[in-house]
This record gives sequence, structure tokens and C-alpha cells, in this order.
Amino acid sequence: MGDKLDVGMAGLQDSAYALEEAAAFGRWWYRRALGQIEVSPMAASCLDIETGSWRTLEGCLINVAEDDLVPLIALITAPQTTAFEFRVVTANAGLRWMRATVLSREAPDTPITSGILVDITHSKHAAIRERLGFELTELLVGSAQLNEVIVNVIQLVCQRLGWEWGAYWMMEASPQNGDRLACRHLWHRTGHDLGTFSQATTDLTMQPEEGVVGQVWASGCAQWIEGMASNPRFMRQNSARSSGLQSGYIFPVTYVSQDGVQHRPGVLEFYSGLARQQEAQLPLLSATIGALIAQTTQRLEREAVIHRLARIDELTGLSNRSHFHAGLTERCISATKHHEKFGLMYIDLDRFKPINDAFGHDTGNCVLREFALRLNSVVPPGAAVGRLGGDEFALVVACSSDDALSELALQVLEVARAPFLYHGVELTLSASIGVSRFPENGQTTPELLRSADAAMYRVKQNGRNSCDIFSNSNPSSIAKLQASLAQRLSIETELHHAIANKELFLLYQPIFDVSSSLMHGMEALIRWRRANGDLVPPDVFIPIAEQSHLIVEIGQWVMAQACADLSKLYHANFNDLKVHVNMAASEFTNVNLPNVLCELARAHQVPSSSITLELTEGMLMKQPERVVSVMRNLRNLGFEISLDDFGMGHSSLSMLKNLPITSMKIDRSFVRDIAKNQSDSAIAKAILTLGHSLKLDVIAEGIETDAQLSKLKEEGCHLVQGYLLCRPLSLDSLISMHSNSAVGGVGCAMPF
Ligand code: C2E
Ligand code: MG
Ligand code: MG
Repeated sequence: MGDKLDVGMAGLQDSAYALEEAAAFGRWWYRRALGQIEVSPMAASCLDIETGSWRTLEGCLINVAEDDLVPLIALITAPQTTAFEFRVVTANAGLRWMRATVLSREAPDTPITSGILVDITHSKHAAIRERLGFELTELLVGSAQLNEVIVNVIQLVCQRLGWEWGAYWMMEASPQNGDRLACRHLWHRTGHDLGTFSQATTDLTMQPEEGVVGQVWASGCAQWIEGMASNPRFMRQNSARSSGLQSGYIFPVTYVSQDGVQHRPGVLEFYSGLARQQEAQLPLLSATIGALIAQTTQRLEREAVIHRLARIDELTGLSNRSHFHAGLTERCISATKHHEKFGLMYIDLDRFKPINDAFGHDTGNCVLREFALRLNSVVPPGAAVGRLGGDEFALVVACSSDDALSELALQVLEVARAPFLYHGVELTLSASIGVSRFPENGQTTPELLRSADAAMYRVKQNGRNSCDIFSNSNPSSIAKLQASLAQRLSIETELHHAIANKELFLLYQPIFDVSSSLMHGMEALIRWRRANGDLVPPDVFIPIAEQSHLIVEIGQWVMAQACADLSKLYHANFNDLKVHVNMAASEFTNVNLPNVLCELARAHQVPSSSITLELTEGMLMKQPERVVSVMRNLRNLGFEISLDDFGMGHSSLSMLKNLPITSMKIDRSFVRDIAKNQSDSAIAKAILTLGHSLKLDVIAEGIETDAQLSKLKEEGCHLVQGYLLCRPLSLDSLISMHSNSAVGGVGCAMPF
């Protein structure tokens, strides 16, 4: 081509250049033998050199980026491929992208290779941006930790956009110096001496507004930096010089959250050994990079919140049930591996429900929150604390000994007992604690929880406000306990329908007067025949009914039935007969009881004095003042009251003196051995003396043998009840027994 120029076709040439310019491409010719090149004016402009005739390759390619020089020269001098894309650092337009294409590679004897040169900066930038955006998204979307992925982001930006060194700065809280920006993530190309600059960077921290990075953080605006080695605004001049870095771009990573607050998680900086990177495309991309990092930060923050919510009990801030169980399982695995021991403490608050019911859920919540705080204050470091639901809490603690576990349990009991203040009201409760130990009482989460629960249940049964360490002495105890719990639940469910389904009925056990040998009264004893035909004794279902408050309904049914039956007995000539009716504790705390009973007695036309209400000492001791006041009202209305199972409770003699009762029943346990055992005999005698001196009737119950009966008679006992005399009977059996009896007047006579 150069030769062609020599033949003076200047006019044709000019129009060819015009065409080149219009089509935005330049041409080049390389004379192999001489190693010289000539370029068209358009190509010269692309290469940012003067137009002119043949020159050396070095002179022509002086502005080509160093890394691209060798492959470009290879393409021109001995082309293996047909095209190569390279960068030119121009004085006015910064870094530009060119594509050199070989058009003709003449035969070996032909001395000239020719080609064209196209400025592809725009399309190249667009393609790079698109690809980088895609790659960044890929990197960030799947990441679970921003810190891990940030170095990969820096590397990708450097590689795709031609930067040698990049870093991410974040604000760190420093107790001595306040908040300072520090660089924790950086990447640089290998093969460049950039280590010194990296070291200087990681050694540095800065305040907001200090240095270029600090200014970018504070202002939220990106900045270019040129001539880093001598730029007074730049804090790392010396290391920039020794590392050969010249220009860079620093920009903030910002985002605005849904609540409208602007967040600035960090600052990114990228540097190059090339000067005048101004026109490089980082500014165009910085918003995209910042937005992607910000989105990821937001996503990770949201994930962290969700993760937290999934593990934490919102009310108390303790681990929730599922997280506590998961932690316990992990603890079992690790303790098995390292042959460690630990303890599980299962804590159930006593009397929490009444507080919740009486004072409302807000109060209940305050108590639970306060208890959680107290719990945290007594547990040793490293303990896991959880709220398993409602008023149940649990702890996992490293276990040195049973004594240490007991000691901790005592502290927990103490903080549970300390009064809870709510708007000036003092609320008191207590806790029942069951403890199980790994590995003795279980090696898995369910086993350990079952054992701790069993121990806790024992505490509840024995009066609460205490702690019990699970004992393996009876290996089947868990199974038994579970079976009994299951039975309790099913009984409670069926009991709800028992009255409506007419599954309850009463039997009557006569109480005889030994002096007249006639029937003095009878005790109504409830029975429940379940739908499946099973007969359930009151000892089993009455405590369950008491716990579920079904007892009130059942109690009223018993009373109504007893009144109705008594009325029938009067019609069958059982004159002056008394019916004893057993009462539950919760019935006796009901101030309405006297009115309800009065109404029933009136409705069935039986005198109130023919009804004796039996209550035990235990019931009396629960809320003595309230119960005694109900008793007085009942007495005023004419009802009689008998203290059942006397001798088993703890009522004081002074209290007994003032109780509005009419009779007492010597507990069966004293009657049992009365003929053999001196002390039982002495107790029975003492009760009789006490009763009589208080002018009370004393009834001995549970008489099974003649010896017991004679002994009781001997001690002056007049009223007797027991299998020996008569088993509990249905009303019909009682009436037919009476009609067969020779003795009339007051029902049936004693069988002997
Ligand atoms: P309790 O009031 O002490 O009733 C006496 C219990 O002793 C009855 O058991 C009776 O069948 C039993 N018994 C009577 N004589 C003998 C005897 O010679 N030997 C033996 N071994 N036992 C004898 P039962 O009917 O199983 O009642 C158990 C408890 O259930 C009662 O003890 C009472 O506390 C409660 N109960 C029964 N009916 C009712 C009721 O209608 N309401 C309430 N709240 N409790 C009831
Ligand atoms: Mg009784
Ligand atoms: Mg009794």
C-alpha cells in the first residue's frame, strides 16, 4: 500500500481517508522486511500519535497499554489470528479500546501485511459492563457472608475493567479512637510489586473526612485521584510511588432502606499503574457495584433477622423451643464424642396461670420476662437458657456434680420465689424443677427431656416449689409415668361428657350407730362407669376433675343426686337419715356454695340438717380463712360438717377448737391396725377423746374386722363404717335391704 502511495494517487487516497473517517476505521500497512509500519490519519488518531509516513513499530504503538503490546506486535508481524483487541492510553480521551484486524497477509514473498483499526471503546464498555454486572450478580446472589465474597467482587472488577489494585473500607467501632475507617478486604494483581501498597493500606485507619477515602465516606460522592505518588490529598503517597500506582477511583457503597434511611456500608477504591484512568468506565459501573453490594448487605441483614427470629423467643430473648432442642442435640453429640457430662434442668413455674388469669396477659408477660432475666443472672457462663413455651423454661449446664446442680436449682428456686412487682402489686410464685444428667439419665434430647420432665412431675405431685434430680432406680418409671400422664389426659377428655352421658352414679355406704345398732346415716360415694364399661374409682378421677375445674360441675351433680336420693329414702321410711357428701377443696372456697346447697335442699324437700358435708384437713389448710368463713355460713344454714380422714393432716388443736364442724372421721389408716398396734390404738383413742370433749360425733371408717370393731367399741366409738358392716351399695339395694330388715324406723339395722 505504501508503494501505492508512492505512485501519487493523492486524490484517490484523500477520498479513501474520508470514507475511513465516516466509517470510523483506520488502516495500517506493515513492511515486514524493514519492520516498519504506516498508518492512515484515522488509525493515527486511534493510536494517539502524529500522522506521518513509515516508522518503527515502537514509535507507532507507544501509547498501547503495556500488557497488550506483545500480542499486538505478534498480530502485526506474524499473524496467527485475524484480530486482536487492545487498549490505548490517550492523552485526551483516556483509556480506549481498539480492534486490529489483519485484512491481507500476502504470500511469503509479498513484503506487506495490511489491516484495519477500529475504535471499539463504546461497544467494548457496554459488553464489559453487561458481563461484569452479570458476574457480580452471580457472585453476590448466592453468598451467605458479605465479607467472604467482597474480595471476589474486587478481583472481578479489577480483572474485567483493567485495574491492578482494589480494596473495600468499612467503618469500625474502636473504643479508644471512636469510629474509624479500616480496610479489611483487598485484592491486587500478581506480577506487580503491589505488596507495599497493600501493607500501607491495611496498616492505616482513618476518620471520616480524613484522606480521600474518608472524604468519600463523609460526602457520599465518588472521587478521581491522579498522580497518586505526589498528590497531597492522598495519604499513601510513598507506597503508591514504590508500587508504581498512578491513578484511581474511589466511590461509596450506598443504599436507601425501605424506611427512607440512607446507609453507607463501605467505600471501594481501585487503582491503576496507568495514568489518566479518568475515562475508564468505573464511574458508569460504580452505581451498579454499590447497588449490588448494598442489596446483598440488606438481604443478609434480613436473613440474619429471620434467622434470629427463628431461634429466639421474642418475649424473653431466650432460645425458643426448637432452637433449644437443636442445641441440646448438638450438645449430646459433642458430649458423647468428648466423654463429657452435663445437666438439663426443666423449670415449670407454679401458680403462673392464676396470675395470668387474674391480672391479664401483660402482667403474665412481665413476670415471664423478669423471670428470664433472673434466670440469666444465676446461670454459669456457657449455659444454654431457653423458654420451651408458656411458663416452661430449661437450662443446659456443664455438670461437675449432683451437688453443683442442686446448688444451681436452689438459686433458681430462690429467684422464682422473690416477689415480682407489677404496678405496685407484689406477685409471688414458685418453681418446680426436674433435673436429668447426661449420660446417666439419657443420651438423646428426647430421653433427657423425658427424664427431667418426670423428675419435675414428681416435684409437682409432692407439693411444688422444689427440685428433684431424676433417679434411675426404677427404670420403668418413665414408661409408667408416661402411661399415667396419657391416662390422665384421656380421663380428663372423657370426663367432660360423663355427666351429660349419665355415666356418673352414686353408691351409699351406711354409717351405723353401735349403741342402737341402727343406721345413723350413709356416705355418698361417686362412681364413674366409662363408655367402654370400665368402672373408675373416685381416687383416680376426682383429683383430675379438681385440676381441670370440672369438679364444680361434678360436685353440683353429686349434691343434687344425693338430695334426690335422700328424698326417695324418706319416702321409703328411712326416717332421720343423714347423708354424708364428700366435697372438693375448690367447692369449699366458693362463697356461693351455701346458697347453691340451700336451693338444692329446698328443691328436694330435704332438711339442711340431714346433709353432712365432708371435707379433709388438707382442704381446710389450703385457704383456712376463706374455707372457714364458707363453713360458718353453711352451719348457720343448718348443714352439718364432718372432718374427713382425720389424723392425716396437720390441723392444729387450737384451730380445731374453733372449727364449725359437727363430726370427725378417724382415718382408715388408724383403724387398720388398731387391734394390733399400740400407737394406732392410742391415736384412735386420743381422737375419740378429743372429739367427744369438743362435743363432736366421731365416726370410725374402714372397719374390716371384728377385732377392729370390738376395739373401737371398747374405746367408746359409737359411729362406725366399713366393709365389715356394709359395702357401698346402690340406692335400690339399700332400699331393698331395708324392706328385708326386721328393724324399721331408721332404715336398716347393723348386720350383727
Ligand atoms: P373417703 O371420703 O374417705 O371415703 C371412704 C372411702 O373408703 C371410700 O372409697 C369407701 O369405699 C372406702 N371404704 C369404706 N369402707 C372401707 C373398708 O372397710 N375398707 C377399705 N379398704 N375401704 C373402705 P371410695 O368410694 O373409693 O372413695 C375414695 C375417696 O374418693 C373418698 O374417700 C373421697 O375422698 C372421694 N370421693 C368419693 N366420692 C366423692 C364425691 O362425690 N365427691 C368428692 N369430692 N370426693 C369423693
Ligand atoms: Mg368421706
Ligand atoms: Mg375418709
